[in-house]
Amino acid sequence: MNSVITIKQLAKTLSLSNLSSNLESILTNGLEKTNQQFLLELLQAEMALREQRSKERRVKQASLPAIKTLESFDTAFQTSITSRQLAQLGELTWIESLHNLIFLGPPGVGKTHISLALCSLALDAGYKVFFTSMDRLIHILKTAEISRNSSVRLKYIYTCDLVVVDELGYLPVTRNEANLFFQLLTKLHDKASVVITSNKGFEGWADIFGDTILATAMLDRLTFRCQVIPLSGESYRLTHRSDLFT
Ligand code: ADP
Ligand code: MG
Repeated sequence: MNSVITIKQLAKTLSLSNLSSNLESILTNGLEKTNQQFLLELLQAEMALREQRSKERRVKQASLPAIKTLESFDTAFQTSITSRQLAQLGELTWIESLHNLIFLGPPGVGKTHISLALCSLALDAGYKVFFTSMDRLIHILKTAEISRNSSVRLKYIYTCDLVVVDELGYLPVTRNEANLFFQLLTKLHDKASVVITSNKGFEGWADIFGDTILATAMLDRLTFRCQVIPLSGESYRLTHRSDLFT
């Protein structure tokens, strides 16, 4: 058999995708290279492709609803956090040390924006990330036993370095849902960083979960290693809304 065809087949079997799809040009370009150089570049190209695909998979799994950056966050408008503090969060050392972040504040002050920007940075840095609204998370937790989709999601969540739960407290949760959420936090404790955004201060959490003891236990876990970041001020949306009629 033609050795080019055999090489292609072997490359495929060994999952060397770059080699199997670009064999002809690799061979042509390799003519003027030493053996060592040829092998080195071949393996480097394979590695780069693998890393790129892994990142694409992680980005897809993270399910970010939008792409935001720290650079586009206006700290002249939102003065509860300084650009220096933002930059410090952007260094992601808190993920390495398993710290949690809790952003508190009314609607439109940038809680989701900053969380999303940190997710993107974490994905760039190679971390596994999952972003979800509290609603969607509860749905996943409640249906994990009966829906394959949910059980796959939940398994992924358990492997993540960073889990963002957006909009905790917008809707009340039942006792059962609160318990499921608490179990999740317990499992993630010591394994992942959790970021939570909420429009309710800690004193309102007992109401959200309908149970003071459970809310206290939850806060106890979450705030053990944690930076609480209160954001206040006007809604960016309302201040910057665009009118159709001028
Ligand atoms: P929250 O989650 O606190 O309700 P968001 O983060 O969703 O608020 O912000 C609402 C909108 O306003 C988003 O499009 C966000 O990008 C934008 N935004 C909020 N605060 C700022 C800011 N300080 N600089 C730039 N954009 C902002
Ligand atoms: Mg939000």
